[in-house]
Amino acid sequence: MKKALALILLIPFFTTAQQKTVKNVILLIGDGMGLAQMSTAYYYGGDDEPNFSRFPIVGLINTSSAKQRVTDSAAGATAFATGRRSYNGAISVDTNRTNIPTITEVIRGRGIKSGLVVTSSITHATPACFYAHAESRREEEKIAQFLPGSGIHYFAGGGLKYFTQRSDNHDLIGAMLQRGFILDTTDLIPDGMIDPDKRYGYLLSPGGLPSKLEGRGDFLTEATKGALDYLSLNERGFFLMVEGSQIDWEGHGTNAIGIIEEVKDFDKAVGVALDFAEKNGETIVIVTADHETGGFALTPSVEDGESNYENISPSFYEGATKEESADHTATLIPVLAYGPGASVFSGIYKNSDIYHKIMELTDWKAPIKMQAKTTLTGDDIPRKVVK
Ligand code: MG
Ligand code: ZN
Repeated sequence: MKKALALILLIPFFTTAQQKTVKNVILLIGDGMGLAQMSTAYYYGGDDEPNFSRFPIVGLINTSSAKQRVTDSAAGATAFATGRRSYNGAISVDTNRTNIPTITEVIRGRGIKSGLVVTSSITHATPACFYAHAESRREEEKIAQFLPGSGIHYFAGGGLKYFTQRSDNHDLIGAMLQRGFILDTTDLIPDGMIDPDKRYGYLLSPGGLPSKLEGRGDFLTEATKGALDYLSLNERGFFLMVEGSQIDWEGHGTNAIGIIEEVKDFDKAVGVALDFAEKNGETIVIVTADHETGGFALTPSVEDGESNYENISPSFYEGATKEESADHTATLIPVLAYGPGASVFSGIYKNSDIYHKIMELTDWKAPIKMQAKTTLTGDDIPRKVVK
């Protein structure tokens, strides 16, 4: 009788213990990557199946901002980073221009580290929304000022000039060194062993990095690996945002070959994230985009007035190619998800729900236990956010 009772009591305990929890989140954003852009990986990617195919869960998001049907990258990233929709150009401020807490600000108080890897400047709209607040994405000098004291522990991208050639002459490099950053402006290779007590920052060009066609090389995959090597040392977990920033730029330039190369590069970074998540078991990987750029389509080539279904001749929306400057569109955007609880990302929902789904899967918004306080460093105390 006693034995049977013990067994009954043990069952619920084991069920709970076996439930997988999400400790780490990797969000990969292909700026301007609609379904057609993503599809290029299937037609121009060579013999290997794209890493996109490794995701068991697919969803769609509506990307409109609070004010406009067609979003820009700032409003798009504000939705992902804060769970709130705002106006085009907003860097994590609401429609009243009041700061909204970003995901990295919410989690830093829990000892969770954050990383950003981008091929634009680190002050560009998409990454900026994860650590800064500004009324306009154009205020890149102001945005840069947030980085030294932010909850970002690893970043890699371009944008050195916003830190070194400032109109106010503020020494932001000095400010970052004071905050425990090890900075590098030449390459991604850390000197010696990775020190989990330090922060790492890589600013590898004055503005955005070169495009893939201009010879950027393996920056995106290498920086993603570097970020994961460092962030995974953190006991309490991490949030990493990786952006294929220039899929959008090639879309604006109506450069189909450029899009193809940028998407291929992005898919490789996705592979790095998935390899990590497969081994780790407590990581969720989400791939999505802020919006589509160019009204890009994989249309058949036209020969003698007839469609040739054998060949694809990528095209952009009418009028875009004439001016060599295409704009964003309002089509729904794919979401791919892998990891424990990934099924919450299936369905059709708003861009801002990505944030809420992340919070649903992690315990990042649950009240902090008192005992956690003693192990937090001064750097991890949340900055007061004006509501
Ligand atoms: Mg961007
Ligand atoms: Zn754009």
